Amino acid sequence: MRKRLALAHLPTPIQRPKRLADAMGVDLYVKRDDMTAGPEAGNKIRKLEYLLAAAREEGADCVITCGGLQSNHARATALLSAGLGLRAVLYLRTADVAAGAPLEGNALLDRLAGAEVRPISPEAYRDREAVMAEAAAEIRAAGGRPYVIPEGGSNGLGALGYVRAMEEIRKQLDLGLAGGKPFDVIVHASSSGGTAAGTALGAARYGVAGEVRAMAVSDDRATLARVALQLMDDARALEPHLGAPAHLVVDDSARGPAYAVATPEQRQRIVQVARLSGLVLDPVYTGKAFAGLWDLAERGELAGKRVLFLHTGGLPGLLAQGASFADSM
Ligand SMILES: *Cc1c(COP(=O)(O)O)cnc(C)c1O
Repeated sequence: MRKRLALAHLPTPIQRPKRLADAMGVDLYVKRDDMTAGPEAGNKIRKLEYLLAAAREEGADCVITCGGLQSNHARATALLSAGLGLRAVLYLRTADVAAGAPLEGNALLDRLAGAEVRPISPEAYRDREAVMAEAAAEIRAAGGRPYVIPEGGSNGLGALGYVRAMEEIRKQLDLGLAGGKPFDVIVHASSSGGTAAGTALGAARYGVAGEVRAMAVSDDRATLARVALQLMDDARALEPHLGAPAHLVVDDSARGPAYAVATPEQRQRIVQVARLSGLVLDPVYTGKAFAGLWDLAERGELAGKRVLFLHTGGLPGLLAQGASFADSM
C-alpha cells in the first residue's frame, strides 16, 4: 500500500435528493465529495493525500503545481500546504498576466493561505511541465527541496485517491447504504482525467458500478479518453493488483462554449438543482456534468438505472462567477 496522509474527512455521505430525483425521473444518488473537508474540499484532496505523502517522504519543503486562474486543485494544494508547513508555488493560467490573480474565489483562498501565485499566459501554459521543472531547478539551486505536482493532481499516484474512493463506496454499500446494490453508472465532471481513471479502475475492482461516464468540461472526447487511458496504465504500474477498469465512457456533449464558460441552459440547471435539492453546483465542472446527466435522462438513456453522481466540489468557482447568473434567477 502506498503512503497516504489522512487529510480528508471520510467517508463522505451518499445522499438521495428525492425532490430532484423525482423531477428528473432518475434513480439518483449523490456522493458528496464536495464535503471531503472545509475550504480545501472537493475531489483534489483525495489525490493530494497520496501526492503530499510522497512529497513529504522525499523530504520536500515546497510544492509546485499549476491550473487555471480559479483552479480548485491549486486552492486545495495551497491550503493543505499551509497546514503542513510547505511552501506552495502556483502557476495559474490567465489571459491577462499583468492584471494577476483577483482576490476572489479560489484565487483569494490561494493568497490567504500564503501561496506564491505566478500568473502565466495560455501560450506559456502549454509548456507547463517544462515551466514547473525549470522552477524546481531554480528552487533547488537556491537550497530548497521542491516537489512538482501535475495539473489537477492527475498522475498515476493521484488517481489512486479515486480507487480508494470506490473502496469507500463499496463499504457503504456493504452497510446497506444507498440501497446496498452496485450502481449502473457513475457520472462526474472530468478535466485532467485522474478522477475518471481512478474511478473506472476502482469501480471495477470493488464492484461499485459497471460504467463510469466522464463528462468532459475542457478537452474533447478523444483527447480526454487518451489521457485517462494513460493514467490508468500509470496507476496500474503502481498497484498491479488493479485489474481491468469499468466501462469508461468519455462524453463531451456538455462541454459548453469553453473551459469555465457555461451556457445559459447549464446555468439554469444549476439554479434548478439548488432549488430542488439544496445541492450547489458550479459553472466550471459539476454544473456542466449534471446538466449533461439531466440531458441523458430526458433522452431516456437512464431509464431503470441506478445512477450515482459524484459531486466533486468547486463552490469557490461559482462564487467567482456570480455576475454571470444575473439573468438566470
Ligand atoms: C478538478 C475538478 C474536476 C475534474 O477532476 P479531474 O480529475 O481533473 O478530471 C471535477 N470537478 C471539480 C469541482 C474539480 O475541481
